[in-house]
Amino acid sequence: MADLRFKRVLLKLSGEALAGNEPYGIDPKAMDILSQELENVAGLGLEMVLVIGGGNIFRGVSESAKGMDRASADYMGMLATVFNALAVQDALEKRGVDTRVLSAISMREVAEPFIRRRAIRHLEKGRVVICAAGTGNPYFTTDTAAALRAMELRCQAIFKATKVDGVYDKDPVNNPEATMYKNLTHMEALERRLRVMDSTAISLAMDNDLPIVVFNLFAQGNISRVAQGEDIGTTVSGG
Ligand code: UDP
Repeated sequence: MADLRFKRVLLKLSGEALAGNEPYGIDPKAMDILSQELENVAGLGLEMVLVIGGGNIFRGVSESAKGMDRASADYMGMLATVFNALAVQDALEKRGVDTRVLSAISMREVAEPFIRRRAIRHLEKGRVVICAAGTGNPYFTTDTAAALRAMELRCQAIFKATKVDGVYDKDPVNNPEATMYKNLTHMEALERRLRVMDSTAISLAMDNDLPIVVFNLFAQGNISRVAQGEDIGTTVSGG
């Protein structure tokens, strides 16, 4: 078994990680690359909880801006995360990685209900636990669900995989001179509105002393590197 810095982590993937180069939906090529990466990480012996967003399919807040009732739109957003969870489960199980989908909204024909002790048991048995349907409540996001589940399931860190290398002082896509932070406190991330995760999620992580490691998902091998303690991306910790 590999020498790991963490024993149990929560990996937050946004829905767009599954869309690859497509504007929405699930791209089989992106799924293949992602599941290969996750298979490698699981093979290191890291206990892994996945929280996957739904923005590649449906985002409640955008739809409510167009006139839909916010709570109804948010429930649709949560259902979108279930689509993604099932897609990731399928891709992982094809590779022989044992998984369980646990949903915050009960739909027992499709997924187990989220029961904290059961989730911990799955992790102890080496299964990848995929938490679907966010927190189960409208007006929240899957970032907040990630912080909540990470604490409940006693994860040592949140791995926030993004499209860029870490957290920057400006949007690096539009500003080539943007500089990346190596380390930040939760409070700095909040005060500078750095959008590491949404503010509810960062506050929860801060209050419970949970580090967040932000790194590039699309650089091959990165999840394993972070798990093994390589100093890449940005670490948000220490209040
Ligand atoms: N959502 C919600 N409560 C939750 C988690 C998610 O209402 O606890 C809804 C919300 O409408 C959100 C959508 O699900 O816009 C998809 O999640 P998110 O935007 O976090 O996905 P991501 O941006 O990570 O792809």
